[in-house]
Amino acid sequence: MTRKLYYEELYQTGFDAAVLRQENDKESVRVVLDQTLFFPGGGGQPCDLGTLNGVKVLEALEEDGTIVHVLEGPLPDGLSVVHGVIDWGRRFELMQQHLGQHLLAAALHSRFGLRTARMRIEGDNVSMDFDGVHVDEETVRQAEAEANEAIWRDIPVEVLYPGFDEVERHARKLPPKTTEPIRIVKVGDIDYVPCCGLHVKRTGEVGVIKVTALENHKGGTRVHLRCGRAAWRWLDVVCHETRRVQVELTCGPDGMFQRVLHLKEEIRELKARNGELLDHAAAALAGRLMRDAERVGNHVLATHILQDAGQEDVKRLFHALTEHRGVVALLAGVDAQGVSLLFGCHREDTEVDVREAFQRAIAMTGGRGGGSPCCAQGRGPLPSEGHGTPFAERQIKAALDAAAGVLRQKLTKQA
Ligand SMILES: [Zn+2]
Repeated sequence: MTRKLYYEELYQTGFDAAVLRQENDKESVRVVLDQTLFFPGGGGQPCDLGTLNGVKVLEALEEDGTIVHVLEGPLPDGLSVVHGVIDWGRRFELMQQHLGQHLLAAALHSRFGLRTARMRIEGDNVSMDFDGVHVDEETVRQAEAEANEAIWRDIPVEVLYPGFDEVERHARKLPPKTTEPIRIVKVGDIDYVPCCGLHVKRTGEVGVIKVTALENHKGGTRVHLRCGRAAWRWLDVVCHETRRVQVELTCGPDGMFQRVLHLKEEIRELKARNGELLDHAAAALAGRLMRDAERVGNHVLATHILQDAGQEDVKRLFHALTEHRGVVALLAGVDAQGVSLLFGCHREDTEVDVREAFQRAIAMTGGRGGGSPCCAQGRGPLPSEGHGTPFAERQIKAALDAAAGVLRQKLTKQA
């Protein structure tokens, strides 16, 4: 059994200890000492990190009451005494987070009867799970305010080892039945709970707690919070970003939400207006193309290449053309990613079938696609010399001409 200095000397950062055992293998170096300040983790709190004689401690873990230090490299052979230093900044933050979590859990329990199923400290974030119950924002706000009041009353934190009867009478939650002494963490008349973790010795040292998010989690609620220095770091980022947004929106922090709603509405209106204008432009272009198009019997072959056009632009022109009976549209759109082809006609022009013409053209662009007699589409890569070059344009034009040739023949035969 390792003597657990971390329980006795909560605020000590360095210690000397006798080396009892060192096991080196390819994967790890494991060192056991007679005593240690390295908390091995437990109750949702991660382990301490630091050094032994300057060698990094990557992990500390407990195996049957013995604390094992996993090191980055070996200690010298035959070393009998080692000096350990824990990463105090990390440890202090973990103790702030852990006690902050107790205070919020106690407030949620005493005011609303909510029981924390588990908690986890992960980096700057602390999460608490409430199983099978929906915890709403207002409840959490009230509990958060109460927990912060408890912080500012600067109440001492006591550690007790009472008998099981006592624990059963007072504890916020019960530990599993055991013959071992039960470690109780007591905060004035606010909280009394079994816990193996480490906590700052007065509530004031937590500084502040702030709930940052609530999420639905496996039929219950997960509450995310920040405590102490981690809460300050979070607030620092949020304030900085908020100020930047305020400058852009020319408003104060309480006007941001309304301004964003207003902007979203404005964008929606602009998009709708933009859509109308594009439809007008497409209709005008369609009119011109139909006037200039080649006539084959009762049909016209409207052929066009749209430069710097996405698939949406091609579709828009396609609809403007094919809403008219007798128009066969052979369209290509070129953008930096490639060529898209869209061929078709009014769906009631059942005498027209664009598929063969489409397959001829798409093959010439090196692409693939397909569709129905009245609508076929696909995409191809850019011709070898790329987007915007006369060569690329000539290749696409040749593909459309070949497709027009196929249709001309078919429609002439029918006529
Ligand atoms: Zn605890």
